[in-house]
Amino acid sequence: MESRASDPPSPTSPSPSRSSSPPRIRRLEASVVNRIAAGEVIQRPSAAVKELVENSLDAASTSVFVSVKDGGLKLLLVSDDGHGIRHEDLPILCERHTTSKLSKYEDLQTIKSMGFRGEALASMTYVGHVTVTTITEGQLHGYRVSYRDGVMEHEPKPCAAVKGTQIMVENLFYNMAARRKTLQNSNDDYPKIVDLISRFAVHYMNVNFSCRKYGSNRADVHTVGGSSRLDAIRTVYGASVARDLMEISVSDDNPTRSIFKMEGFISNSNYLAKKTTMILFINDRLVDCTALKRAVELVYSATLPKASKPFIYMSINLPSDHVDVNIHPTKREVSLLNQDSLIDTIQSAIEAKLMSSNSTRIFQTQVVSSSLPTQISTRKDKEHSIANSGVQSQKIPVNQMVRTDSRDPFGRLHSYWKDGSQSSKQEKKSDLASMRSVVVARRNWKENTDFTSLDQLVREIDSNVHPGLLDIVKDCTYIGLADEVFAVLQYNTYLYLVNVVNVSKELMYQQVLRRFSKFNAIQLSEPAPLQDLLLMALRDEELETRGDETETNDDLKEKIALMNIELLKEKEDMLEDYFGIKMEDGSLIRLPVVLDQYIPDMDRIPEFLLSLANDVDWDDERECFQTVSAVLANFYAMHPPILPNPSGDGIRYYRKNREEVGLEAEILVDKSDEEQVDEELVAEAETAWSQREWNIQHVLFPSMRLFLKPPKCMATDGTFVQVASLEKLYRVFERC
Ligand code: ADP
Ligand code: MG
Repeated sequence: MESRASDPPSPTSPSPSRSSSPPRIRRLEASVVNRIAAGEVIQRPSAAVKELVENSLDAASTSVFVSVKDGGLKLLLVSDDGHGIRHEDLPILCERHTTSKLSKYEDLQTIKSMGFRGEALASMTYVGHVTVTTITEGQLHGYRVSYRDGVMEHEPKPCAAVKGTQIMVENLFYNMAARRKTLQNSNDDYPKIVDLISRFAVHYMNVNFSCRKYGSNRADVHTVGGSSRLDAIRTVYGASVARDLMEISVSDDNPTRSIFKMEGFISNSNYLAKKTTMILFINDRLVDCTALKRAVELVYSATLPKASKPFIYMSINLPSDHVDVNIHPTKREVSLLNQDSLIDTIQSAIEAKLMSSNSTRIFQTQVVSSSLPTQISTRKDKEHSIANSGVQSQKIPVNQMVRTDSRDPFGRLHSYWKDGSQSSKQEKKSDLASMRSVVVARRNWKENTDFTSLDQLVREIDSNVHPGLLDIVKDCTYIGLADEVFAVLQYNTYLYLVNVVNVSKELMYQQVLRRFSKFNAIQLSEPAPLQDLLLMALRDEELETRGDETETNDDLKEKIALMNIELLKEKEDMLEDYFGIKMEDGSLIRLPVVLDQYIPDMDRIPEFLLSLANDVDWDDERECFQTVSAVLANFYAMHPPILPNPSGDGIRYYRKNREEVGLEAEILVDKSDEEQVDEELVAEAETAWSQREWNIQHVLFPSMRLFLKPPKCMATDGTFVQVASLEKLYRVFERC
């Protein structure tokens, strides 16, 4: 037994059933423990650079120079002009848990320095060769000493030195073959180091930074301290980035929500990039906060129609006991007290900033083209192309949406939009032309008009919010559609049915007012003649005619259409300037983007135009803004598609009747009923329905969480209905 226990089971025969004695637990050698820990703290060369630069900044340096060889694997050199390290501290400098910044646990609550664990330098000596050269104030000479596995290799040697400290790390991961190999195979870490120094340079704008490849006389980052923040950003990221930034600041000091102050710069709608740049400093520490980053990206994607990712520099200060810097070994990802509330406040501030930044805005037009393979697959393609190009062009199959075929059983509209596969050159040209005209129109817009009535309408929304519903809207989880009109959502332990049509209509209404006069455009690829559209809408209207001669009925409709066109023509400029509805030469040219990523159901254009001409109060400014917004909202709301849902019962609408099927059906007598449906129309309907469902889940609900201010009436008019309390349901299950 004895010998068995001292003999550890070989890894190839670890059969627990054969041996009842458990394997011996041994104490690992300290150097092994330290090397494992070191590997966690120093995961890659850029992580080592971060620790070294933070040490330099903690030492009150005004210059920090970084030099890198072989992506940092061969050599990392960080020199500063800070206060240096005392001669008597050098022996323990690189032992684990030696620090000058923290002595008791309580200090953690108030710590201002970036380091405090006393782990970084020690770690580096376990996975690389570290040499420190340093001189403190008032000394005639400095000292140089090398470290291995936490201890000095020799007594510190006196040497000539300039003010500050120089730390050299050679052969990083020399004793971790696998790590070294993956780093060598993967991309060079140098770009990461440049990125890191760039971020520090923006935040610590009073410090001179430089970062270069070892031996190169060209620095990849080079800043001179003492400039403004924007200058620092310009120097590091270039003038083209700095040009498209807006300053932002927001604070909160309500202890029940959050206490913080945020200052920064954020990109405006002209900025174009495929990837988000988020430079985040919390209490002057460079950190990541994934939740905040996502939240910011969401505001951008919901507010600006371009799928550009933002550039964000943000410095947040909060009471130090509100940040838990200790959750990550490298202190990189932080968690914050009252994080949700803080994120909410920042989101709203960014959103407001984006909304109000119309002065330098170049409006992007979205060309609605009629290329139509399948609507569903374009979703994926679209996401893909957004990711690739960084710029979004919304393509939605419209040629089937507007149809003038009078024999069509559903009174649907046919295409004014020509085939999108036609020359893309032409598309580009018209795109450019429309872009130009939008920009020109924008310039002519009377900036100094005073819209008290608009303010009033917006304030009305704010004062009419139902707080309980607002909570639900902000924090709900979308479960799915219950039927054609109701969606199911969960909030806390409650399930609610929500009327999608009502909610989307209200959201669109509020969005129209928010975006008032600042709309981006959905460009129709062909002008759509108002007369045809209006007649189409009127066809379904039962008109009261004197007598019952059908001819006069048709004449009357034509007359009404013409009067409507006259009226719309009169209001053309106003509709374009304020609502982004552009009409020209008796045709509809452009529609506003009310919610990003969303194009309304083009089948509803005729009703929309009819309603625009007839349901708007043109006399009073406030009434006019309100009614136009309401008409737009009704058009953009997520109504069930006009084509009946072919799944289930709805399929009967698509059966071909015998006459139409004619001879063919007589011959193919054994063809079952189901097969004699209009396949094309069914496919179209299926597409429309699944597109709508997608929109509800991926466009409506995310935007609703961000923007909707549910009015009080929604609590009682059946828009929100609580259907179950999960707690009660669970109790029922327990009894079973
Ligand atoms: P920490 O930063 O967590 O204290 P480190 O291992 O990074 O731990 O550094 C250990 C100590 O070495 C620091 O507390 C500091 O006193 C000293 N030190 C490290 N780098 C420098 C530097 N560039 N200038 C002055 N002192 C330094
Ligand atoms: Mg440190």
